[in-house]
Amino acid sequence: MDYDLIIIGSGPGGYVAAVKAAQLGMKTAVVEKAPHLGGTCLNVGCIPSKALLSSSEHFHYASNDFGKHGIKIKGIEINVPEMMKRKDAVVDSLRKGVEYLFKSNKIDRLNGYGSFQDANTVIIKDEDGKEISKTAKNVMIATGSVPVSLPGIETDGKQVVTSDQAIAFDSVPASMIVIGAGAIGLELGSVWSRLGTKVDIVEFLPRIAAGCDQESAKTLQKSLEKQGLKFHLDTKVQSAKAGKDKVVLIAIKDGKELKLEAEKVLVAVGRKPFTEGLNLEATGVKLTERGRIEVDSYWKTATDSIYAIGDVIDGPMLAHKAEAEGVAAVERMAGQAGNVNAALIPNVIYTYPEVASAGLTEEEAKEQQISYKTGKYLFMANGRARAVDQTDGYVKLLACQKTDKLLGAHIVASNASELLAECVTIMEFSGTAEDLARTVHAHPTMSEVIKEAAHTIH
Ligand code: FAD
Ligand code: NAD
Repeated sequence: MDYDLIIIGSGPGGYVAAVKAAQLGMKTAVVEKAPHLGGTCLNVGCIPSKALLSSSEHFHYASNDFGKHGIKIKGIEINVPEMMKRKDAVVDSLRKGVEYLFKSNKIDRLNGYGSFQDANTVIIKDEDGKEISKTAKNVMIATGSVPVSLPGIETDGKQVVTSDQAIAFDSVPASMIVIGAGAIGLELGSVWSRLGTKVDIVEFLPRIAAGCDQESAKTLQKSLEKQGLKFHLDTKVQSAKAGKDKVVLIAIKDGKELKLEAEKVLVAVGRKPFTEGLNLEATGVKLTERGRIEVDSYWKTATDSIYAIGDVIDGPMLAHKAEAEGVAAVERMAGQAGNVNAALIPNVIYTYPEVASAGLTEEEAKEQQISYKTGKYLFMANGRARAVDQTDGYVKLLACQKTDKLLGAHIVASNASELLAECVTIMEFSGTAEDLARTVHAHPTMSEVIKEAAHTIH
């Protein structure tokens, strides 16, 4: 065999797994078809979107709230090419970081499209059509996902776009319709709305942020509405036709036709696993009904030598989930006890305020007939939140009625993503709400709201 492990795909699942494998002494190679390492997350996903969320939040705050601090600046402007240059520099620096990790861990990078010849042989075809073949004891599929398209709506990359283009507009669109009120729609809708775009979000379901605790979703919706985003819920999109300067979108709401027009339409209705061209037929690897690669509890496919992790298998399509699975799968290959607690994958929407959650939602607890108690505390009542002018939102905790074990945490706050980590740790250690309440938190910090929410349970 040429390698102990060949990984197809260098996203957060693939590259983190490769580093772990190399550290465990495996001779490792990664096949990547794109010009850069890092996958969706680094190149067109998590990182560029968070860079733009940061720039647009600064612009919005400077334009609307600096006055409160006694800071007066005249003529605040957004220079979109400069903002994009910064975003590209952030991405570029992180790509270099991944390249460095490959070099320092002696991971071979095989540039080209990977496909299976058999269960232990991968063919790599480069841009010029040149093919090489490499064998490995184990192969890991980490090929990720691509945007879902909607029937009747053709994305042209200019007027009707996916997130790939909405992170790279060269100017602020006057108006944009976003189809889908999930993480992408809410985050990129926020970016452009903060910069001045009139944003309409059309969502098929009666609520936004499906999967989040219902109360958090409602709070976020109100907050985003205050910021100027308009929601059309329970609305089914029929078509979007691009004309000379605008796109006309037709949807059905309450049985009536709704016609919306905008300069851009962002289609953000989910992502689907990417397995095209892998030639899985040559391997015995099976797909689930929803087209994801079928794996057992330790990420092994129906074929012994082939593993799969990340967006291409079941579960939430999140970078940290892909990373955790990659590491644990490699540990399993090495005979170690790698594991991922699927019940505690944090979920964050990086809007203002952010919505971060882990563990059970109230809806899930009811559905599973788990008797629970809740504790809730508002940031409005927190000294630090007032001092830094970030008073929107709350912490809501769910604990078991009988044992007090912490079951779920739902945080709506400016930095909810960071605050959530402490609750996840408590839950990983099967801690109780009382453990959280009795933990001394520094004052004044936003994290005191978590402690106070835990206190309200008792
Ligand atoms: P990917 O990152 O998709 O990587 C797969 C790689 O495999 C790609 O580089 C691809 O080119 C390569 N590949 C595919 N097939 C082949 C082949 N046959 N041969 C060679 N190479 C191949 N998640 C979060 O957790 N937090 C966020 O804030 C967040 N924000 C996001 C924002 C946006 C706009 C988008 C689109 C996604 C976001 N996500 C976020 C989701 C996150 O990007 C994905 O969950 C994550 O990238 C999945 O990692 P992965 O390694 O499974 O696959
Ligand atoms: P999503 O699944 O999160 O949301 C898609 C939304 O589109 C849903 O609310 C769905 O009801 C709606 N929808 C579907 N069909 C529709 C239709 N015909 N008309 C109107 N609405 C329709 O998907 P996404 O926002 O595209 O994100 C894709 C993936 O990327 C997700 O799995 C997400 O977890 C991940 N992501 C994560 C983050 C983050 O962690 N902050 C950020 C961006 C993306």
